[in-house]
Amino acid sequence: MHVLISGAGIAGQALAYWLRHHGFTPTVVERAPGPRPGGYKVDLRGVAVEVADRMGIGEHVRARATDMRGGTWLTRAGKPVAKLSGDLIGFRDPGDLEILRGDLADILHRATSGDVEYLFDDAIATIQDDGRGVHVIFEKSPPRTFDLVVGADGLHGGVRALAFGPETGCAEGLGLSVAVFSVPNHLSLDRWEMACTGAGHIANLYGLRPTSDATAQLFFPTPDPPPGRHDRPAQQRAVADAFAQHGWEVPRMLAAMHAADDFYFDSLAQIHLPNWSKGRVTLLGDAAYCPSPASGQGTSLAVVGAYVLAGELAAAHGDHLAAFERYERELRPFVELNQRLGRDVVKQLVPATRLRAWAQFTMLRMMPYMPGKARMMEQIMKPIREAANAITLKPYTPALR
Ligand SMILES: Cc1cc2nc3c(=O)[nH]c(=O)nc-3n(C[C@H](O)[C@H](O)[C@H](O)COP(=O)(O)OP(=O)(O)OC[C@H]3O[C@@H](n4cnc5c(N)ncnc54)[C@H](O)[C@@H]3O)c2cc1C
Repeated sequence: MHVLISGAGIAGQALAYWLRHHGFTPTVVERAPGPRPGGYKVDLRGVAVEVADRMGIGEHVRARATDMRGGTWLTRAGKPVAKLSGDLIGFRDPGDLEILRGDLADILHRATSGDVEYLFDDAIATIQDDGRGVHVIFEKSPPRTFDLVVGADGLHGGVRALAFGPETGCAEGLGLSVAVFSVPNHLSLDRWEMACTGAGHIANLYGLRPTSDATAQLFFPTPDPPPGRHDRPAQQRAVADAFAQHGWEVPRMLAAMHAADDFYFDSLAQIHLPNWSKGRVTLLGDAAYCPSPASGQGTSLAVVGAYVLAGELAAAHGDHLAAFERYERELRPFVELNQRLGRDVVKQLVPATRLRAWAQFTMLRMMPYMPGKARMMEQIMKPIREAANAITLKPYTPALR
């Protein structure tokens, strides 16, 4: 059975691995000229770590994990409020892993490139599902027909737009946008993170090595949809205006923003669709059910979703209608819990007013001296741990080999 996957990100490449494992023939089409390197930190938590181990990539992820030592919380003016351990600032339980998105994409690519066909620097232009197959016209490659098409092409998914209609019908903004870009590592941050927080705003800076660039992540309130989706100058103006009053390193970060060649900007949005599949086309990862970066769970949902989708296709011996229905039934409660987590984290982590920012600083300052510190930590971690483990992995066996 020949399956076309749009997107060589985390979801698409994980799916390619599992489809090969079960005896299917995947082809991956990716708009970028190769696997995209670098990028921000992402997490594999709970069952997603188990999936990585079942893929045999767990050790590679551990070897390239960021292994952050900790971080400093600062006021908007740059006054240190608290120092937190790496696990605390990253909301990680023992065993959870944090890695650069590009490193994880590279590990997945190495695990699949030997026996999966990749079409880089190309994209799907049109799809036509005639009930027996999906006829695909590519932007560059010659047309082909596939048994199934999977849209794993991220939050603004191209396949979703072709098969399900415009994004406006399913994207729900959480009221914030984020800009991410590399900056010179003036502070020589060494596996250390700094979070400078003001009402509605977080300027986050982290470095993995004192000798390489640091990464700036700026979160701030925007209307939904945010201004200038394809207009980089407008995006950078919005970032500069939003952080104009911030002190500390922020002016240097803003100056470096214009020169950064990896500037990324998007709104924190979730995708909510009543169905993830239509005929022979289905969606996976952020394209289907983005929980927003605020949840810290998008990567885990992508990896676990790939495992379940491929497993259900194998269990149904390629009966895609039965498989797509079971894929959704298995995964949806897990997805919904993590989407709820994303909405809650935005409310709790980003203080909306100066008063709330002050309350957050006070709590962080007092935390080391509080008698109930362990219980408080447990209260913070409990919903994250529950969401990260809210699915039992079925032991799918290769059916088509
Ligand atoms: C700033 C930021 C911080 C984040 N922090 C975290 C975190 O801490 N923890 C966490 O788990 N997650 C985090 N995430 C989210 C995480 O990156 C995603 O949820 C995860 O990568 C989802 O994987 P995906 O494969 O569905 O999508 P993506 O990783 O976005 O991959 C989609 C792929 O499709 C390609 N593509 C796009 N359009 C087309 C097209 N038309 N045709 C062909 N290819 C196309 C893209 O080039 C890309 O390679 C963060 C995201 C951002 C933006």
